[in-house]
Amino acid sequence: MGTLQLPSFLLTSHKFHKPFQSRSTKSASHSSRIHQSSLDISRLASAKPEMLDVDLRWHDHRPGARPTEYDVVVVGCGPSGLRLAEQAARRGLRVCCVDPSPLAAWPNNYGVWVDEFVAMGLDPFLDKIWPMTAVIVDDRRTNYLNRPYGRVSRNGLKTHLLQECTSHGVEFHQAKAWEVKHNEFSSAISCSSGYELKANLVVDATGFSSPFVEYDKKRNHGYQIAHGILAEVNRHPFDLDKMLLMDWRDSHMDSEPYLRPQNSKTPTFLYAMPLNSTLIFLEETSLVSRPILSYTEIKRRMTARLRHLGIKLKRVIEDEKCLIPMGGPLPRIPQSTMAIGGAAGLVHPSTGYMVVRGLELAPVIAEAMVECLDVVAVRFEGTRSFFDAFFDLDNYYWEGFLSSRLSLRELLLLSLYLFGNASSKCKWDIVSKCPVPFVRMAGNLAIQST
Ligand SMILES: Cc1cc2nc3c(=O)[nH]c(=O)nc-3n(C[C@H](O)[C@H](O)[C@H](O)COP(=O)(O)OP(=O)(O)OC[C@H]3O[C@@H](n4cnc5c(N)ncnc54)[C@H](O)[C@@H]3O)c2cc1C
Repeated sequence: MGTLQLPSFLLTSHKFHKPFQSRSTKSASHSSRIHQSSLDISRLASAKPEMLDVDLRWHDHRPGARPTEYDVVVVGCGPSGLRLAEQAARRGLRVCCVDPSPLAAWPNNYGVWVDEFVAMGLDPFLDKIWPMTAVIVDDRRTNYLNRPYGRVSRNGLKTHLLQECTSHGVEFHQAKAWEVKHNEFSSAISCSSGYELKANLVVDATGFSSPFVEYDKKRNHGYQIAHGILAEVNRHPFDLDKMLLMDWRDSHMDSEPYLRPQNSKTPTFLYAMPLNSTLIFLEETSLVSRPILSYTEIKRRMTARLRHLGIKLKRVIEDEKCLIPMGGPLPRIPQSTMAIGGAAGLVHPSTGYMVVRGLELAPVIAEAMVECLDVVAVRFEGTRSFFDAFFDLDNYYWEGFLSSRLSLRELLLLSLYLFGNASSKCKWDIVSKCPVPFVRMAGNLAIQST
């Protein structure tokens, strides 16, 4: 059983004379390995988001271009939106994704449990895996969890999803969606480009902003707030084969006691991904606060903690402000707009984790969408072909039917003709669902015509 390896300069303090004790070790479902082949930090040196190199199929708005109407328009190209678009298109739906910048690299650092990514076949898109995770409860107790943790290769995963979308025919429209109007048979999405897209179903995948989703109750959620940096440092005290999920120690406040009163009300912990001995992702996190803890306060606590740990920043390659709504009401059900990811309130109510949930639900939701849209399409198509066949009848028959002038024999002839011209789905529905009502109706007609 391992302990966190602290460098000697930290062990001179009396607080660290006892090695951390592991209170519990949970078994892993995935073999331990460290994988660090293509660490995804290339984009981080520049302030502008990197653009990914994928040849997308763009929505063609010229008059006469096909399709004029999509089965599904997904608003938002985050992890949830892209995965849903790809899964829906794979099942034969015509899909368009709208986003102000479909090719921009995702901004967030995502950490996930490796077994969850393996289950979805997405583990090739982890750029670093730690075989164990550590939770430091206080100066004396540390839990080591035998559950591997991974850092998502944002560029790798987004590139993969964009490529899958493109190869299954998803089209993209670069714009912000302004407004969604639901009409009887389709919805219209007005975009900042000035164009309007039409779809049978609109999915709000815009993350936590979720402008198109309706709620019955006021959204009075709390917030998870965190300040994260990817930094080059002089050194750090953390084991390279352990991801530090939580460090709840507060001994750094001994020398900065003014931080204590607020920390005891709204405590924060350190989350750290040691990438190598001088490259580390560090995040000071408040799990949930209401009212929200100030960002300045979080930064102050992080500075004090790093000073105490002897970590000096040489270069901040990236910093991220994390703000995640936690708790609060769920969207109203049913409603005309569907949602996934942050927009659907999928966030885990006590940890703020969500990226896996959106990715793993996408195939399930896509399956349901296919079923529902198919039913609507079959019903509507069936109705159309019924009336087509009906008004194709000799005038004597359709006029006679509408004016209730047909004899029983003529009604039977008319029914046989319509059955012969019905779609196979419609024939099956008639054969499977109609015999009893039909016998009743025939009986009534027989009584009427005698
Ligand atoms: C900094 C940060 C770090 C996080 N880290 C983790 C983590 O480690 N693990 C985890 O499980 N979860 C994490 N989360 C929580 C959650 O997984 C993420 O927020 C995740 O990105 C949500 O995915 P999404 O697809 O729902 O939305 P988003 O990723 O937010 O994507 C929404 C997309 O919609 C677009 N959009 C917005 N409005 C419109 C509009 N009107 N029209 C068109 N497009 C629009 C945006 O440009 C964006 O591309 C983190 C969240 C944050 C903020």
